[in-house]
Amino acid sequence: MFFKDIVGQDSAVQKLRDAIDNNRLPHALMITGPEGTCGLALAWAAAQYILCQHKHDGEACGVCPECIQASKLGHPDLHWVYPLINKGGSGKDASTSEDFLPEWREAISQNPYINLSQWIKAQGSDENKQAHIFVSEAGNIIKTLSTKPYESDYRILILWLPEKLNEDAANKLLKIIEEPYEKTYFLLVSHNPDQIIGTIQSRVQRLQLAPIDYLGNFVQPGIQIPDEEDRLYFFEKFCSMMRLSYARKLYDMKKWSEEMSGLGRERQKSFLQYAQNLIRENYVMNLHQPELNYMKPDEEAFSSRFSRFVNAKNVEGIMHELEVAETDVTQNVSSKMIFFDLSLKLIMLLKAGSQT
Ligand SMILES: [Zn+2]
Repeated sequence: MFFKDIVGQDSAVQKLRDAIDNNRLPHALMITGPEGTCGLALAWAAAQYILCQHKHDGEACGVCPECIQASKLGHPDLHWVYPLINKGGSGKDASTSEDFLPEWREAISQNPYINLSQWIKAQGSDENKQAHIFVSEAGNIIKTLSTKPYESDYRILILWLPEKLNEDAANKLLKIIEEPYEKTYFLLVSHNPDQIIGTIQSRVQRLQLAPIDYLGNFVQPGIQIPDEEDRLYFFEKFCSMMRLSYARKLYDMKKWSEEMSGLGRERQKSFLQYAQNLIRENYVMNLHQPELNYMKPDEEAFSSRFSRFVNAKNVEGIMHELEVAETDVTQNVSSKMIFFDLSLKLIMLLKAGSQT
């Protein structure tokens, strides 16, 4: 998640970015805003920015291992806590957020604006059920944060909906929120801060989000998921783009560009976003952590052979060219030129990636 994906919250983004850049981020910060605001996405973007090893121009790089892991919710020093349905009965042996990480990953990757009833449903439960953060979770948080960070200089815990902390859990967390371990950040995201137990409220600093402008151009950030028909088409075009550029088939590349220029600008943009996503997936595939990959079987089959051409030597370059093409598409540059130019750039980039 990137700051640039956070729409309509420029002031909050700027405050967070400045605080991180100047080493002034409070150890416990609560982002508040009504349901539907992007607090969770903003906390996620801030965490990725903190962890990124190559941030530049106020943004995470998106391609270093820290960024990849953070964006896939697989970073060992980025912890997530969220309300759960109490399946275990007594608080003592109730499940903790860790047990629901796969569901959480999927739910917020698809919709970083998720609300509580959507999340309850994603847990496979009746959405009228109540969800809480239980005392067993608080115990787990203390245990997790008392060990050393795995890979990073910092450790971050994003706690979604502190208003759902039950009293025992809140009391257990007071001390660690007030005096956290070194280099540890708590990012709390609340929709109803007034419902939070007072002793927690008084221990956190607040960052208030602007109300959503429903009349403005309000778009959801993050991953745009094409429908299956478009996805199949984009996938086929992605494969042919890579094959043709790799084999330097200029004549066929030109024909391919002509076909792409026949799509509307919106679909061209969607294709280029889809291509960026698939490049990221291929790069991640080289980390050999299958739980971080989200691909359909056809994409996975292609990537099992293609991923070795996407690596540290060229991934930034490829992503950059796809982004440039996406910007050009929105600026009325001849789209035949955009796509042909892109495929030419890919020749060199794929060559760079295939050299050992
Ligand atoms: Zn990075």
